[in-house]
Amino acid sequence: MTKLTPQTQPHFLLLTFPAQGHINPSFQFAKRLIGLGVKVTFATTVSAYNKITKAGRTPDSFNFAVFSDGFDEGYKPMVDDTTIYITQLRTRGTKSLKETILSNAENGTPVTCLVYTLLLPWAGEVARELNLPSALLWIQPASVLRVYYYFFNGYDKLIGDDSSDPSWSIELPGLPSLKSRDLPSFCQTSNTYNFALPLFKEQFEILDREDNPTILVNTFDELEEEALKEVEGKLKLVGVGPLIPSAFLDGKDPSDKSFGGDLFEASKGYVEWMNTKPEGSIVYISFGSIIMLSREQKEEMARGLLECGRPFLWVIRDKVGEKTEDEEEDASFMEKLEQLGLIVPWCSQLEVLSHPSLGCFVTHCGWNSTLESIACGVPVVAFPHWTDQSTNAKLLEDVWGTGTRVNANEDGVVEGEEIRRCIEMVMGEDEGVRMREKAKKWKGVAREVMKEGGSSYKNLKAFVDGSSTQKNMVRISSKEVKHLESKLESVI
Ligand code: UDP
Repeated sequence: MTKLTPQTQPHFLLLTFPAQGHINPSFQFAKRLIGLGVKVTFATTVSAYNKITKAGRTPDSFNFAVFSDGFDEGYKPMVDDTTIYITQLRTRGTKSLKETILSNAENGTPVTCLVYTLLLPWAGEVARELNLPSALLWIQPASVLRVYYYFFNGYDKLIGDDSSDPSWSIELPGLPSLKSRDLPSFCQTSNTYNFALPLFKEQFEILDREDNPTILVNTFDELEEEALKEVEGKLKLVGVGPLIPSAFLDGKDPSDKSFGGDLFEASKGYVEWMNTKPEGSIVYISFGSIIMLSREQKEEMARGLLECGRPFLWVIRDKVGEKTEDEEEDASFMEKLEQLGLIVPWCSQLEVLSHPSLGCFVTHCGWNSTLESIACGVPVVAFPHWTDQSTNAKLLEDVWGTGTRVNANEDGVVEGEEIRRCIEMVMGEDEGVRMREKAKKWKGVAREVMKEGGSSYKNLKAFVDGSSTQKNMVRISSKEVKHLESKLESVI
């Protein structure tokens, strides 16, 4: 074994799944690490790298380790075959990760910690095999992590056919009572996506094999106090969020306004349009980077917005008025909509959420959007679709009290009248006032936690300090590197 010399600078290898909801918090996490003096290598796929660098907002201090997942034009969720994608990502990602770790060890810049986001459990295996400390960066709330933990530890048997009954609920330690519709969609009996649950299960099995695994969670102590408590003496959860650019949070770096990894190009002119509207008047509607609304749901949304008669900004990534049999009717419908609001394919969401003219956010409750609504003090109409969004909606409505959740009809469509009702509730008096007050309160807390001395700042600093102790150094001699390299070649 070569003699260990204490590293002057810890070196984190940060691996992220190439989806917007993973890239954004990972980028922010990387920037926070760099701010604490850590060297960061950001590992991701060719498609994500191309989009990230095209946006041209990558800090100079970023090193990249780029690999091809075989989908260099980008994997298209809900279009490409997910099983094939996940398998290729695993095979190619494993190879690239090992090569990156070994070449850094050889070049005298050894990686001291591997951090990886969700859906990449194999990264934990690579770290274990190479005797490298690692941590999972959980980019959903701690509450959802707990649901999965208990689900894989016997509670799944309690979620049977009767769970769809409105009177059914489940009690899980550290969590509010949950109805079926509050559970992550993959844990509901109605789940039809087969790729996700095995990956989560594998992730928990890998954590189970580790001694005292630490999970860094994109949340903060004050927001999820109970859920962040150690899980059954096995999983240590550390709140390090909200992972949001400094300009919209602690304000330490006013130029830090973007995540730096936008996969879509933002439209122009919407801020100027927002500037012309009265304070608190605009309804902002966005369903994140993956979900596509059905034509019927889009029409109901449009109906709801027209009935409200309030100015709105609506993000629709695909073409708005798809070809229909009745083009004429469509055109007049669109004209009415355009008189009232603005439809854009992409925007800087944080800029929109922090604009004084904004009144309410109709959101799919992706965790990033949820945290951004909290950090910007914006009340919400929660309109969840799948994965953790249903649990996030429950937390927003019942735990943090900053919004209301829509109800779908028996065909699963949320009707225009229901959308109007919810927007009016959030924008109106009584309950609306209470929601706005709570949103304001959470904004205040969220903005403190990342400041020096704030809970998330201290948690992250303690993690970084702990990770760079000699105990955690990578103990790979050059002889071992050669051995691992030849082993690697034989499996590829
Ligand atoms: N976002 C954005 N502009 C848009 C829509 C979304 O910048 O027009 C960002 C948003 O701020 C968030 C991310 O995209 O950081 C979406 O992540 P989220 O977890 O909310 O949803 P997902 O896309 O993963 O479903």
